[in-house]
Amino acid sequence: MIYNLIFSPLNNFIYFTHMKRFLPVVCVLSCTLLSCLGGKKTVKEHKTVMLDSVVVSANDKKFIYREAAPKIWEITNNKVALYFNLKEKTAEGNVWIDMHPYFYATDSLTLDAKGMKIYSVTLVDYDTHTPVLYTYTNDEIKIKFEKQYHSNEKIKLLIHYLAMPYANSTGGSAAISDDRGLYFINTDNSIPGKPVQIWTQGETEANSHWLPTIDKPNTRFTTEIALTVPDSFETLSNGYLAERSKPKDGLRTDTWKMDMPIQAYVAMFAIGKFSIVKDQWRGKDVNYYVEPAFEKYARKMFEHTPEMIEHFSNITGVPYPWNKYDQVVVRDYVSGAMENTSATLHGEFLNQNFRELADKNNEDVVSHELFHQWFGDYVTCESWSNLTVNESFADYGEQLWRRYKYGDEKADVLAYEDLHIYLQSAKYSDPTLVRFYYADKEQMFDRTTYQKGGAILHCLNQMIGDSAFYKAMQIYLTKNALHSAEATNWRLAVEEATGQDWNWYFNQWYYHEGHPVLDITYTYDDDSKQLIVKAKQEDSAYTYRLPLKVAIIYGNVKTIVDWDLQKREETFFYDYKNGVKPVIVPDVTHRLVGELNEEKTPAQRLIQYKACNDYVNRIQAVGSSYKKFSDSCSQEIMGLALADKMGSVRAFALQKLRTQKNKKWKDKWLPAVIEIAKTDENRNARYEAISILGDWNITDAKPFISKAVFDSSYMVSGGALTVLYKLDPDTAHLLAARIVNMDPKATLYTSAWQIIGAKAHDDDVVLFENELSKLHSGNAQFGLAGSLFTYALNVNNDISFGKAVNMFVRFAEEQDVKAYRSGMESYVIQLYKSYKGKTELAKGDNKVHLQQRTDLIKDSIDKMIATEKDPENVKTMKEIMKG
Ligand SMILES: [Zn+2]
Repeated sequence: MIYNLIFSPLNNFIYFTHMKRFLPVVCVLSCTLLSCLGGKKTVKEHKTVMLDSVVVSANDKKFIYREAAPKIWEITNNKVALYFNLKEKTAEGNVWIDMHPYFYATDSLTLDAKGMKIYSVTLVDYDTHTPVLYTYTNDEIKIKFEKQYHSNEKIKLLIHYLAMPYANSTGGSAAISDDRGLYFINTDNSIPGKPVQIWTQGETEANSHWLPTIDKPNTRFTTEIALTVPDSFETLSNGYLAERSKPKDGLRTDTWKMDMPIQAYVAMFAIGKFSIVKDQWRGKDVNYYVEPAFEKYARKMFEHTPEMIEHFSNITGVPYPWNKYDQVVVRDYVSGAMENTSATLHGEFLNQNFRELADKNNEDVVSHELFHQWFGDYVTCESWSNLTVNESFADYGEQLWRRYKYGDEKADVLAYEDLHIYLQSAKYSDPTLVRFYYADKEQMFDRTTYQKGGAILHCLNQMIGDSAFYKAMQIYLTKNALHSAEATNWRLAVEEATGQDWNWYFNQWYYHEGHPVLDITYTYDDDSKQLIVKAKQEDSAYTYRLPLKVAIIYGNVKTIVDWDLQKREETFFYDYKNGVKPVIVPDVTHRLVGELNEEKTPAQRLIQYKACNDYVNRIQAVGSSYKKFSDSCSQEIMGLALADKMGSVRAFALQKLRTQKNKKWKDKWLPAVIEIAKTDENRNARYEAISILGDWNITDAKPFISKAVFDSSYMVSGGALTVLYKLDPDTAHLLAARIVNMDPKATLYTSAWQIIGAKAHDDDVVLFENELSKLHSGNAQFGLAGSLFTYALNVNNDISFGKAVNMFVRFAEEQDVKAYRSGMESYVIQLYKSYKGKTELAKGDNKVHLQQRTDLIKDSIDKMIATEKDPENVKTMKEIMKG
């Protein structure tokens, strides 16, 4: 699973990201708000309970110990036949469940079956059907048999039911914004031009919305999924297509079988009018299911998938374990992507044309989900407490792919971003990686489970080396194949591979909350001709053992030594050599999963820059010296960085240079900036350089900027259009109005619409209306909503204003996905607050006018509340309006 859409009604703010990396900090607060408030507060206030070093509250009812689900019955096969009512958005199902008691004899059984109507439950013995006694609450079927069954007695149950995923409100998490389990997209054909699709999303425990089963990660079974669909539709599910019936009355039944046992949350199906683009890996099918309009881009959208399968097969020593690998892109998906076994499902942000893909390919998300086919699917977390044995590997899989395919620079950029995403979130909540106490399982999908977990694997990989790390992965996957596992199993695999004890490592990283804060101070003692280095862990809650690689640099001669920090404070002495004072780069290989604080002069940073040839050391040198700009060493670092061989270092240096206010320095670096803007092969660097020209108000650059609006990269062209707006708003607006009719994408799309929103011409409301009539996905509508919001804030004409507000209301009504609806609702509430504030400050006629607008927005919010079906959203809106 990977993040996509984040909404925070608590902060009355919307955060949207295609990928997890650009998530704003505040969002992290909301994602983890519950655990933050619930967890940390109670630790101090109540008596605590210790378990595996996890400290929790004994009194907080919500924050209770989460055991792995007890295994009372074992399902061996789940065979389901589904018939869909497209208009009603329901599915009538028959499920045959083969099962036996797991170990102890029992006369009762509980099955997960959420939000269903149960017609009958019968025991099947060849042709005999015997009704059984059961009760059904909203999410469980409780069955009482007439006798006890023993573990060697197999039974077959048949349940006839109606799945009604839209009958109830939905929950979800930061990573998964909805939990209906089964989704009907435009199946009532209410939105002309929008594809009709049906698809599922199981994680965490949502597949029991359409499949009565034991919906827990530690139960596995084989599946048979029979889907009766209009003959014009394609179907996709786990495993292989075992049977396709002849069409009758326009309907056809496809039966998919998965012969290897999988857990309930990775069972899936997707139905729609897909084009299937075929690829192969070692003779196995590797197919891409896309909307026909994206057929020509599909190979590029999923580029390198077979090579990734090959690489992951090689490094894990376990050849891709499933019969085939399919990937499908669906509309209105409620997360980023999901690693359903042998059939990954992606959100529509993967739908990109060649020009978009050249700016940002899909390889991180594709490699993440693919690595899950081993870590998550082949071996599964025993319970959500150990979710990190799925997600940390998937997260690290992105790095493993980048490092293999594109080398260290690209992988280091990702490792650095991931570590800092975690450290940002840790300011608000920094729980243990393996967590047996939480209020809601959805809270497990956080930056600790993903990014911190990935960083811990990165650190371990460095410490034990590639071949030991690969060997450990092989042992873990082989020993736990088709079973569930915990972090402990991973530790045992590492220990078996290396022959060493790793308890200390797992104890400190997997079972302790928080992270190390390492303060390094340097004292040059000219009397003793020594550098005295102190390494302190004062601010850490726990004393970590930190084996680090450290560079000792004399002039331009670098040697690497080992530090094995184990105390709160440790001191190291390094002699001067022939009068040359050493410069230290602690953690020169960047394995520390924590914060490193040190004070260095620009001269020392320059030595670090020159002696260390990797991305992180170089941007650290730039990042910590650029503010002392009058220093000649700072200047030299900037000069080196702008000409660095790594495009990402050049782009980073430009980002820092952009903040420069001093005219003297601007004049000095302007020629270099212009040169990069015009000629750099790296689009990030070009984009940053062009942005500087706008920030520094370089009006002479206007002709060049106008040309750059038509750069081959959407990122660069969008950046140039934004800059042009700063330099010449009228020309930029004219261009933007033309561009929006040319099907722009990505940054260019956002930039053009932002300009139209900010200019707020009365007539431009028509542009918005035209655009909205073309957009059929929540994702796309959401992409436009920000500009429409700006437009509604600024437009003079009342009719245009009314139309703009109305568009939000229509949006929200059209949306099935709760998070998108909440997003639209939040925009209108934000608008209301803004106009209310303006009204309070205004006087005379203007006050009357603004009051009218405020009232109009209030009416719209009332309409939204009246049509909103989700009680949680209604409650949030009412609360925010009250507050
Ligand atoms: Zn994942």
